[in-house]
Parts: sequence; structure tokens; C-alpha cells
Amino acid sequence: MTGPAEDAMVPARLTVLSGPSGVGKGTVVAEVRRLFPHVWVSISCTTRKPRPGEVDGVQYHFLTDAQFDELIETDRLLEYATFAGHRYGTPRRPVEQHLAAGRPTLLEIELQGARQVRERMPDAQFVFLAPPSEHELRDRLTGRGTETGDVIETRLTRAEYELQARDEFDVVVINDDVERAAAEVVSLLSVPVS
Ligand code: 5GP
Repeated sequence: MTGPAEDAMVPARLTVLSGPSGVGKGTVVAEVRRLFPHVWVSISCTTRKPRPGEVDGVQYHFLTDAQFDELIETDRLLEYATFAGHRYGTPRRPVEQHLAAGRPTLLEIELQGARQVRERMPDAQFVFLAPPSEHELRDRLTGRGTETGDVIETRLTRAEYELQARDEFDVVVINDDVERAAAEVVSLLSVPVS
């Protein structure tokens, strides 16, 4: 029998979930949390403004450009990237601390950031969330209804580029059904018992 002390000795796994804009990463992560509350999901920093309902320190740490610059200069970000005109980055220390404490840790980030994490933490596990088809992704991106044609075109071009990166990942999870996809991600989060 193993107690909490022994459990804490099991090295925790860092999982990076990425995938094209519009594939539903946020929804899947919310379901992963519901199914497996033991997971620790990193809170990113961003220079974009909060959307209605978003709270500083919950969905993101909302920073000014100067604050973000300082995090880069003092090497406090594990990775960072620019997406749709704003910067996003993962604070390094909390990730290291939660892994050291034995918590399965999940980052939900875009492609450039995932590539940087692979450089810095090659033992991490890289999971690509893919749409059931390109057609479906196009429908989701164009169906939001609020964006202009130009913005939709930019998102589509980016999504097509990101789709081609799936072969760089260790595992591909198809988001055909949110609960099923989330359950598959949960099954990947812990180090298998050998
Ligand atoms: P949104 O503005 O819709 O919340 O996020 C836009 C994109 O930024 C999403 O693809 C999301 O996965 C990505 N993102 C969120 N946090 C981070 C981060 O810390 N680093 C990187 N590289 N991408 C992030």
C-alpha cells in the first residue's frame, strides 16, 4: 500500500495541450478539470484585455506590456508567444513547483509556445487536439458570427498552418465529442504505473 508520502515521490508528468484555434481546447480543458480535479492547470499571463466574465488571476494574469517585458527579461516565463496581436506566456516557477509536489500539470497553449516547451523540457508530453475534419474547423471558425471576413481569413490561414503541425506531437486526440476527448486527455495526464 502506498500513502500520500510515497505518492508524492512519483514524478509528476507535464502535459502540453495544443491545437488550432477554434478546435475547442478551452472547453476540453474545462471538462478535464471536472473529471480529474487533481490536475493543476497553469494560469498564463497575457497582454490582451479581459473578456466579460474573466477575472484576473483566474483565467489569466492580465498584464501591461511593460509587466510582460519584465517577466521575459528576468527569465520568469517557460515560454511565450504572440497570438492575434497579443502576447501570452507561461510563468515558469508555478509549473516547476507543482511538478515537484507531484501534481499532474497541464498547459493549454498555442503551437509556438509548445515548441519552446519542447526545447526546454523535452520530457514533457505533447498532445495535439485535432478537429474531426478540416471542414468542421472551418465551420466553427466562420460560425462565430461576430468577426469580419478579413479576421476569419486570418484565423483560417493560421488554423491550416497549425493543423499541419500535428505530426510533431506525441499523441493526437480528436475532439469529436468533448467528454470523450477530455476522458482521453485525463488518461494521459498521469505517469503510467509500471
Ligand atoms: P484566448 O485569447 O482565446 O484566451 O487565447 C488565444 C490563444 O492563446 C489560444 O490558442 C491559447 O491556447 C493560447 N494561449 C493561452 N495561454 C498561452 C500561453 O501561456 N502561451 C502560449 N504560447 N499560448 C497561450
